[in-house]
Amino acid sequence: MTFLVANWKMNPQTSREARHLFDMIVDLGRLKNVETIICPPFPFLSVFGSPKSIKLGGQNMFWEAQGPYTGQVSGKMLKDLGCDYVILGHSELREYAGESDEIINGKLKMALKCGLTPILCLGEREGEEMGHVLSAQLEKCLKDVAKNQIEDIILVYEPVWAISSGIVGSGKPCLPDDALSASLFVKKTLSVLYSRFLAEKIRILYGGSVDAQNAASYVKEARLQGVLVGGASLDGQEFSKIANSLNDLT
Ligand code: PEP
Repeated sequence: MTFLVANWKMNPQTSREARHLFDMIVDLGRLKNVETIICPPFPFLSVFGSPKSIKLGGQNMFWEAQGPYTGQVSGKMLKDLGCDYVILGHSELREYAGESDEIINGKLKMALKCGLTPILCLGEREGEEMGHVLSAQLEKCLKDVAKNQIEDIILVYEPVWAISSGIVGSGKPCLPDDALSASLFVKKTLSVLYSRFLAEKIRILYGGSVDAQNAASYVKEARLQGVLVGGASLDGQEFSKIANSLNDLT
């Protein structure tokens, strides 16, 4: 199964537009070889009814179960709204909300407790050394995550410089060969932290300026299990093309 994650970020601006975009892509849930996961802003999670085949995910959650945490959203709330997934550790939250690996680790453990599949974003900023950053992020974000839970996590190699907004980088996609090297590095690190067997089982996606032209190359050439799409997921036609290109591969 290939995973296709849509990160709508803080878009669109009204529930009417969100519903319209969702209606354009809801049929992608029927694709046999692709699991499509839509991660809209929290207020829109409840406007799509209960979609059967397309999956929903949150873009973030809090590390505590409940209580006096103004402005936060719990894992249980996401589950209650029909989410199966939650994106964690996105570089924009690291950048603008000061999220550390320790905070992400707390959120990840709570997500697992709530029965959500964490989609954990990892990646270096422009000028940083890929291996150095990935090993530190993996070690800290996965601290105290048990062996039997590691398979429940999806990892995304998302180099910060490749994100299309270009706010903190060039916004140019990573070459499939480089995405492959990063995923091999992730597996090597996980074999040390866990075991070779588990490292081979973990699902790794790529994110950063993915579009209909390049999406399939990350699965075919970089041998990854899917892609996370930001900007291009806001265009229903482009996103459908991405989904179909992935579906045609297998
Ligand atoms: C992202 O920010 O998660 C992302 C992948 O964005 P884009 O596809 O727009 O580069």
